[in-house]
Amino acid sequence: MQPRRLLGGTEPAQRGVDSDTVEAARNLRIEVGHGGQYIEPVPFNRLLDRLGLSTRAASGAASGANDNAAARGTPRNASGGSWSRLPSICAVCHGWGATRVCDECVARFAIAVPRCERCAIQVPPGVRHCGACLTDPPPHARALAAVGYGYPWNELIGHFKFHAALDLAPALAHRLLEAHRLGDLPAPALILPIPLSAARLRERGYNQSWELARRIAPELRCPADARLLLRVRDTPHQIALPPDRRNANVRGAFAIEPLRLAELHGRDVTLIDDVMTTGATLAEASRVLLQAGAASVQVWVVARTAAR
Ligand SMILES: [Zn+2]
Ligand SMILES: [Zn+2]
Repeated sequence: MQPRRLLGGTEPAQRGVDSDTVEAARNLRIEVGHGGQYIEPVPFNRLLDRLGLSTRAASGAASGANDNAAARGTPRNASGGSWSRLPSICAVCHGWGATRVCDECVARFAIAVPRCERCAIQVPPGVRHCGACLTDPPPHARALAAVGYGYPWNELIGHFKFHAALDLAPALAHRLLEAHRLGDLPAPALILPIPLSAARLRERGYNQSWELARRIAPELRCPADARLLLRVRDTPHQIALPPDRRNANVRGAFAIEPLRLAELHGRDVTLIDDVMTTGATLAEASRVLLQAGAASVQVWVVARTAAR
C-alpha cells in the first residue's frame, strides 16, 4: 500500500516511494486499545467505503512513475481530495483540523498583503510594481506568492523540503490555489516545476516543486510536466551569495528537453517553486523558457522573502 502522504494528486511522484520513510515505518509500534479482545480487522478501503471516503478516485495517483504527460483524471481537491475530509493534526498549533494547517492557523498566519505584480515582494497598498521591477523588470510577466517567508511557513517549508514532510504538500498547494483564486492572474495553460538536478533528485528522493505542481494542476484543469524544463547544473544556494553574483550563479543552470522544444512554442507557462528569495533562479528559468519560444511566463511560489 502506498503511504498516505504520497496521495493527493493525479500525477505520479517524480520518483517512487521515499525508501527511508518506508523503512522507518517498520519501527512504528501501533498501540491497540481493545484490552486484549479480538476485533475483526476491517480492510482500510472497506472502512473508507463505509465512511463515504472511497479511495478509488485516487487509485491512479501512484501508478506509472515515469509518466509525466498532461495532468488528467478527475480533478480532486488539492487539500488531498477525499482524504482532506479525514481529520488531521495541524502542523502549526497541533489542534485537530480538516487539513495539516487548520483554518484558524490559516486565518492567523496567511493574511493576504499587496505584492508587486512582477516579483511578488510586499509593497504598500495601491502600489503595483516595486522599484526594482520598474528599473530592471524580470523576464516573467507576473508573480504570485501565497504567504510571506516567516513563521510558521518557513518551518513548514523546511520540513517539506528537507525532511520529506510530504504530508504538508496538499496544505501548501492549497495556499497557492487560494492566492490564485483571490488574485487577478491569468489561468495557467502549462505548469512546470522548477526542476532539481538529477543528483539532487536522487539525494532528496523527490522534487518539492513537482509535489506542489502535480497537486495544483488538476485543480486548474491544466497540464503539468516535470520533464520539459531541465536542471543541467547544480548551483550553490543563492542566499549565500552577494546580489551581484546571484544572476551569474544560475546562468546555464536550466535547459529545455531538446527533443520536445516544439511543445513550448507559443505556450503560456506557469513556473512553480516553493520559495522565492532573490528571484534569480525563477528569472533565469523564465529567460530560458522565453528564449525557447514560450509566449509568456508567470511564476508562483508558496512563500516570498521580505527582501531580496
Ligand atoms: Zn492550527
Ligand atoms: Zn517587483
